[in-house]
Amino acid sequence: AKQQGRNNYQLYTSAIGTKVLERLVLENNLYKALDSHEFLLHYQPQINLENGQIVGMEALLRWQSQDLGGLVSPLQFIPLAEETGLISPIGEWVLRTACAQNRAWQLAGLPPLPIAVNLSARQFQNKNLASTIHQILKETGLDSQYLEIEITESIAIQDMNFTIEVLHHLRNQNIQIAMDDFGTGYSSLGALKHLPINKLKIDRVFVRDLVRDSNDAAIIRAIVALGHGLNLKVIAEGVENLEQLQFLKAAKCDAMQGYLFSKPLSAEAATRLYQCQYAG
Ligand code: C2E
Ligand code: CA
Ligand code: CA
Ligand code: CA
Repeated sequence: AKQQGRNNYQLYTSAIGTKVLERLVLENNLYKALDSHEFLLHYQPQINLENGQIVGMEALLRWQSQDLGGLVSPLQFIPLAEETGLISPIGEWVLRTACAQNRAWQLAGLPPLPIAVNLSARQFQNKNLASTIHQILKETGLDSQYLEIEITESIAIQDMNFTIEVLHHLRNQNIQIAMDDFGTGYSSLGALKHLPINKLKIDRVFVRDLVRDSNDAAIIRAIVALGHGLNLKVIAEGVENLEQLQFLKAAKCDAMQGYLFSKPLSAEAATRLYQCQYAG
């Protein structure tokens, strides 16, 4: 009996057992997080490569968990929120908070900029998405042209006809649409011509090694040419050093986002940066 007990214990603490346990703890806490106001948004500025001005902000979700003792990465809890369906109320909270923040910036007299909000696959499948967004814009008083939705290729290809329909709904409301992580999914280039989008975001994986890897450099040049050929703006993410910045500028990429200019900032810090740029 003693021997068996010990085996059970080993099973329980094995890598898989620990993962299951972690998941349970995470899931239980995630349920409470919205009600306990444990979510917050950080904002990362997007910079025009020609003149260095801020041209937008991306809202990035953060979970400050009391019980788990700190910040939990969205990479950890978004997949779980998707599986459990919690992403719907959480995603709505993100949209409302981001729109309200952007409206507050405008009311404070700052020059109006679009705020970019990430949308998950499950949110996108929700038939009420367009009307929910419409409602949130009305409630917060934000003009629709100052909201930009970020979707990924994997969302887009799940049900192409439905995707096209929803995107047209959003575009008809004058909401901007960006294709996030471009180049990492497997949407065909043919699909791109049917999607009513405004912007391509070059994924960080191509930016990371572009100075050393001529393949990455070639891919970036090709994405910029493709985007401009389709009348889309092109922004690069994950820009961390000056060499990358100079390459992107020379490649005629429109904008960039990354630690080189700024990490994602709290609402207060983002407001200060925004005010600073436009002071005087
Ligand atoms: P993403 O949409 O591709 O966001 C960019 C990620 O890269 C962010 O990570 C950002 O903090 C990070 N980043 C920005 N600049 C740099 C840089 O120069 N170097 C490096 N190494 N990283 C940089 P974060 O905030 O941890 O978010 C991770 C992912 O979680 C996001 O990837 C997005 O897919 C998802 N996510 C974040 N917020 C939301 C949300 O509100 N809703 C949904 N559905 N997903 C979200
Ligand atoms: Ca994004
Ligand atoms: Ca991205
Ligand atoms: Ca990503």
